[in-house]
Amino acid sequence: MKARTLKKDKVNVITLGCSKNLVDSENLITQLRGNDYQVVHDSNDEDANVIVVNTCGFIDLAKEESVNTILQYAALKTKGDIDKLYVTGCLSQRYKDKLEEDIPEVDAFFGTLELPGLLAKFDADYQHELIGERITTTPQHYAYLKISEGCNRTCSFCAIPLMRGKHVSQPIEALVKQTKNLVRTGVKEIMLIAQELTYYGLDLYKKRALTDLLRALSDVEGLEWIRLHYAYPSKFPEDIFDVMAERKNICNYLDIPLQHASDTVLERMRRQITRKEMVDLMMLARKRVPEIGIRTTFLVGFPGETEEEFEELCDFVREMQFERVGVFQYSHEENTSAHNLPDDVPAEVKADRANRLMEIQQHISFDKNQAKIGQTMRVLFDRKEGEYFVGRTEYDSVEVDNEVLVPAADNFVRIGDFAMIKMTDATEYDLFGELVD
Ligand code: SF4
Repeated sequence: MKARTLKKDKVNVITLGCSKNLVDSENLITQLRGNDYQVVHDSNDEDANVIVVNTCGFIDLAKEESVNTILQYAALKTKGDIDKLYVTGCLSQRYKDKLEEDIPEVDAFFGTLELPGLLAKFDADYQHELIGERITTTPQHYAYLKISEGCNRTCSFCAIPLMRGKHVSQPIEALVKQTKNLVRTGVKEIMLIAQELTYYGLDLYKKRALTDLLRALSDVEGLEWIRLHYAYPSKFPEDIFDVMAERKNICNYLDIPLQHASDTVLERMRRQITRKEMVDLMMLARKRVPEIGIRTTFLVGFPGETEEEFEELCDFVREMQFERVGVFQYSHEENTSAHNLPDDVPAEVKADRANRLMEIQQHISFDKNQAKIGQTMRVLFDRKEGEYFVGRTEYDSVEVDNEVLVPAADNFVRIGDFAMIKMTDATEYDLFGELVD
């Protein structure tokens, strides 16, 4: 075993899963650094002697990735290459007892709400004054802002409430303070995230308060883009469209997972909405904010989904002409109410339906991108990759949406800056353009 006792601990935080988990890791890193620890994030360096794996437990694939990552570090611990291994996050919250039994190399497991307990392992105090000072791990010009934790909905397929608990909103003042600090460090775009964005405020202010929050954030000087992720369609607060139309720095963008379009499937999913109500909501969005870019996600292969029900979903996608679509295949999760139904759509049928739906969207996306050729759009540049500077318009979020590629040989843009780009070509998921003088 390597002698490490004289060396100061260096911590490597490994994040798996979604942007909400990433924010949790950022909070952990902020607290550890506030307690004078040297901390790296998702690092391949081998000199960290303490590892914290922040896991995801959403669906089978994510669980598998989390377990494999823990096992990889457990092997390093057995070899004596690391001193301590801690595991936190959703998987740990959901399967703590089983994991403790199966992977004894791990020093301790923590649930999603047990940050103080994890810090105690480092003899570190939870410092309340650091809450608004989050150190981000994303590029300097954008950051996620988690406006609430947990979810009060009862969608039958979803394991998130089991792992994240009931909905808890963060106060508006705290979120504004956090945003001001982020802008001071160079952030130009914030992405609002939550398990269920539109429920914001009901627990804290006894009313839906997302529009109040949006107005307060929009007033933060220097903040150029505010982007909305994960809205729930039932009882959608329609005044969001007014504030979106009224405020320039709120992107004309809405990420609203709809999950399905067949009324019978929606009922089995317990989504509390019908196809007609969803169509009306989408029409209203486009009427009030004509330029809006709508992103949605669907779940195929839900228990009992027939070919007819799936076809209804395909028709809906053709009819609604969404700007962006993502498709997930149903994963049969224990302790959800859908687990009581037979998981009767074969894996190959689920995969085939996911492909068919994406193919429909591919054509829609191609046509929409082609229509943009010749237009000049404001683009925020995220990185340089190979021969291109790569950026996004206000209709595109990080990682999941389309990108704008500008040849680096003929143009120069600064990463983290906006530039006006004239679109010259388009494929299904990318736009190509050149800098406008
Ligand atoms: S609203 Fe979203 S997070 Fe909440 S239960 Fe439904 S799918 Fe899960």
